[in-house]
Amino acid sequence: MKCSKPLALLLFCGACGACGGPVSEIAVSKTAVSKTAVSEIAVSEAASGDSLSGVLSPVPSALFDPGGETVMKTLALAYPGVIGPAVFINGDWAAPIRGVLCYWAEGRLLPEEKRSMAGQYDPYEFYAYPAVLPEWREPDPVLAEWLENETERYKTSPVNRNPYFLDSLYRSRDEEESSTRLSLVSFLGRRIPVHYLVLEELFLVEEQIKNAAKISPAVQQWIENLALTKNPQSAIVVSWKYRVITGTRTKSFHSYGAALDLVPDSFKGLEHYWAWTREKQTDWWNTPYDKRYQPPEEVIRAFESYGFIWGGKWEFFDTGHFEYRPEILMLNGIPMAEYR
Ligand SMILES: [Zn+2]
Repeated sequence: MKCSKPLALLLFCGACGACGGPVSEIAVSKTAVSKTAVSEIAVSEAASGDSLSGVLSPVPSALFDPGGETVMKTLALAYPGVIGPAVFINGDWAAPIRGVLCYWAEGRLLPEEKRSMAGQYDPYEFYAYPAVLPEWREPDPVLAEWLENETERYKTSPVNRNPYFLDSLYRSRDEEESSTRLSLVSFLGRRIPVHYLVLEELFLVEEQIKNAAKISPAVQQWIENLALTKNPQSAIVVSWKYRVITGTRTKSFHSYGAALDLVPDSFKGLEHYWAWTREKQTDWWNTPYDKRYQPPEEVIRAFESYGFIWGGKWEFFDTGHFEYRPEILMLNGIPMAEYR
């Protein structure tokens, strides 16, 4: 089976297991942007079918192709105040990021002057993401072969996306600039550096988790078992870590301070990151959910409510990883909190 879309590489966290190091206290230059009601979100026709809810199958992900118009309109809704309304101009869909047009460019998301270079880059991925993790089933031979090929392909041919879109969105073109966009925020008892655009969302995620902990012993236990709770000096929580994937210009969401790794003090033998599982077994994908570390459902939902997706729903799983991708939730028709 051929998969036309390289859906997997974006699924690499790229920073798990190591902290970005000390970050000096930086004043917040701006609070989180105003939000748009979720009811205004345009969801593509292709995104609404149940058949697209299984992120663990390559076929639905490969078929998940919302197209330039839907993606650009969704991006405008996902980042109000930063990305303006989408327009069809000069033969393509585009949306202004702080006034400067960013073109769809077959998924490459490029400025006017780089549109002709689209062929040099891999596209950004806007993929199927299920509201609820589908019931575990052992991957069939076709899926297993596909995963094996994808693993090999990404090892030998690393993804190369043009960073223009994310660099512009987060106003972070290099490490120095990225560091000035951060603010130290208290999250579940630990101060961590995050991008100013996600501050308000993270406050609300924390509030929802704390409220859940009042009625759920499992959530309370999860908080108590977090590495950051048990050992506040440990470097195991990663929010900001500037890193360009070796051999590419593609940066992890941690590079922007828009991702968070929340890991327990002990995994108790459970798997949590596909690449480390792969060091022990070549068929790393054949790891049932009960053998994978997973935060409580309430925690995942709290993050999703405010625009963060969970790496445990990726084929290339990373179960401690959360990153800010409201557009992915919107494109999949997954409701967020009314506040947004
Ligand atoms: Zn991560």
